[in-house]
Order: sequence, then structure tokens, then C-alpha cells
Amino acid sequence: MAMLKKRTRREDQIFVEGNIPMEYLYTVGPTLEPFFKKLKDKGEFHGAKCEKCGTVYLPPNYFCEACFERITKNVKLSSRGILDSYTIAHYDSLGKALKKPEIWGLIRLNGSDTPFVHRILAEPGKIELGCQVKAKLKAKSKRTGSMNDIEGFVPI
Ligand SMILES: [Zn+2]
Repeated sequence: MAMLKKRTRREDQIFVEGNIPMEYLYTVGPTLEPFFKKLKDKGEFHGAKCEKCGTVYLPPNYFCEACFERITKNVKLSSRGILDSYTIAHYDSLGKALKKPEIWGLIRLNGSDTPFVHRILAEPGKIELGCQVKAKLKAKSKRTGSMNDIEGFVPI
């Protein structure tokens, strides 16, 4: 079989497995830029509210997932919320064992209808589903305008 012959069946394909390390910049766009700027500059959480159905998104969405309306309204939200779910990680994202387990949770801030994932700053036995949590932010001088400006969420 010649190398230049068109192969249309999967079992005729030739594969080379491997990993390609890549560095890239991801622009946050007009919807997330105000969110990160207010988080960095003011330590505030600003979500997006659909004016048609009232769904509030945090982080903000460009379109409403419930009714497909374009969202243009920003709303300031609390830094407190509810822990909707969580998991305890014993390995990092590269599969390396952690020295100390980490808790990652789904947090839904008061006033928002959607949760997001972030670190929970507590011992595993000291939290429960539905508990109240509060954001712990980095010092303003150390914020860069990313989700890492939030150190994590602590139970209250
Ligand atoms: Zn909507």
C-alpha cells in the first residue's frame, strides 16, 4: 500500500501516538474580561443576568443557556455561597501524589444560579454538602486577573 494512497477506512489509517506540549494565550473576551477585572481590582464577583428569564451566571456567559438570549447585564454577587458538591483529590492533574489531599468543590455564590469549581480550604471531615462558604482572595497586590486570585473558599 503506497503512503500517498487515500485511506478512508479507520482500520487502514496509520497512527503515531505522542504528546505535543503547547503554550498558548487564551483571550477571555468581552464577557469574561469585566469579571476578571472586577475580581482583580475590587475583589468583587460580577455575574451575568439574562434579562429574559432571570438566570444568573457566574462566571458570566455571553448567551443564556436556558433561553438562548444574548446577555448584556452584569450583576454584583456575594462572595458567599453554597457548596453544592465536592471531591477530595489525592493526586495532582499530572497524576503525582499530593503531600496533602486537596478538596475541590462546586460553589454556587448567593444570587447565582450556576456553580463553578474551586479549591475548598478546609479539612475533609470539616465540610458537608450544602454548607455555607466564603471566598478567600489573595492580597490585591498579588492578584493577576484570573481564577487564581481566589485562594479558595472557607466554610463559615
Ligand atoms: Zn435566559
